Amino acid sequence: MTADAVTTSSTAPGVEYADTASAAYRAALQVIESVEPRIAAATRKELADQRDSLKLIASENYASPAVLLTMGTWLSDKYAEGTIGHRFYAGCQNVDVVESVAAEHARELFGAPYAYAQPHSGIDANLVAFWAILATRVEAPALAELGAKHVNDLNEADWEGLRNKLGNQRLLGMSLDAGGHLTHGFRPNISGKMFHQRSYGTDPETGLLDYDKLAAAAREFKPLILVGGYSAYPRRVNFAKLREIADEVGATLMVDMAHFAGLVAGKVFTGDEDPVPHAHVTTTTTHKSLRGPRGGLVLAQPEYSDAVDKGCPMVLGGPLSHVMAAKAVALAEARQPSFQAYAQRVADNAKALAEGFLKRGARLVTGGTDNHIVLLDVTSFGLTGRQAESALLDAGVVTNRNSIPADPNGAWYTSGIRFGTPALTTRGFGAAEFDRVAELVVDVLTNTQPTQASNGPSKAKYTLADGTAERVHAASAEMLAANPLYPGLTL
Ligand code: PLP
Repeated sequence: MTADAVTTSSTAPGVEYADTASAAYRAALQVIESVEPRIAAATRKELADQRDSLKLIASENYASPAVLLTMGTWLSDKYAEGTIGHRFYAGCQNVDVVESVAAEHARELFGAPYAYAQPHSGIDANLVAFWAILATRVEAPALAELGAKHVNDLNEADWEGLRNKLGNQRLLGMSLDAGGHLTHGFRPNISGKMFHQRSYGTDPETGLLDYDKLAAAAREFKPLILVGGYSAYPRRVNFAKLREIADEVGATLMVDMAHFAGLVAGKVFTGDEDPVPHAHVTTTTTHKSLRGPRGGLVLAQPEYSDAVDKGCPMVLGGPLSHVMAAKAVALAEARQPSFQAYAQRVADNAKALAEGFLKRGARLVTGGTDNHIVLLDVTSFGLTGRQAESALLDAGVVTNRNSIPADPNGAWYTSGIRFGTPALTTRGFGAAEFDRVAELVVDVLTNTQPTQASNGPSKAKYTLADGTAERVHAASAEMLAANPLYPGLTL
């Protein structure tokens, strides 16, 4: 299997992408080195480390040199609070172009009526969405009732009443241990504090989303916002069903597709599995399966677009213009046919990884996958997620520990390891390599023993049998060398 076209091919006629990018990075690192050599060294080392490890973190990827280079410019120096053509600062004509192009690509790629490219991250995108929904569903009708056009027109008593109303709404999202995200109403996150929150889980037997139970919870709780989407659920979701449930109880459907946006962009998730036509508001990150710069996007149906457009100044400060530019470049890449082939490989590779685990006797939450995530229950190896994560890292396998449904070890130590295929698929890994990855992971975990502490087995400490790390390192080095990261890029 060859590495993905985006990371290797020419961008312009007669220009060798790898040579041009190498020259650009060499020059940039020299400039950085002249000011702070430790930063240049850490940047070089990060590339070497990423090249030398099996990156299986489901939320990470490798953006193309075009995306990365776009971020290192003077667009970073411009303040541009406001919206396209309506800024609170002078001289924003070029940022207007950047933001317009990013939004245009996002609308076209996802078939969305409206796109907002300013959120600095996924959390920010969700905050923009929450407040846009509150502004549309609660604030606007309350203002109309009070005969006011703007909150500044309200007297103190009316303003206090409106504030109480805004902060007194209900949100229903997926629970953290079923695979939901912190921003879907988890207590330590602001979403769990600004809303009355309840969560829906998955079936305890199958680990799958139970739409009937979800509908029953929605009927009882009557949320203003029903949140769909996940960080660690290894299955597809029927968003048409979620919309039916939302409509029945009068909720706004907000879908956070941060994890699987690349599979939506690449047309692996279509019809009922594509959230964009079904959700009132869809949020995403741009740096996970979508393979762009770190950042967020909000897509909205027309009735929410005006409120989303006020993300700045509602919850955002000045947009990161250099990152919006990189989002535009990444979205342009994602509109190429090669991205659809990539997205399909991401899903096929996840299946190969899952099958590799199952045939070696490992237990997977939901018994498999049909997206880019595989969630391994490590209790059958006698380990906590924390021990498994550390032992795998010792062998050069980079993953993250994750809760599993009804996790006996809680959210810190956990009982699961989450694997994702987007990054190594970008490097060119195919089904055979992912089967080998499963073999290496099982090798590490069967050779890891929890350390006994005075009061029983430790949840964090472990010993890895002699020779295991070396054996796994050597096997992965072969696969990594055959599928180089940024082939041809030399610093
Ligand atoms: N939403 C989901 C579903 C996520 O998985 C994440 C990140 O892990 C986020 C939001 C937050 O994204 P960010 O880290 O860019 O704020």
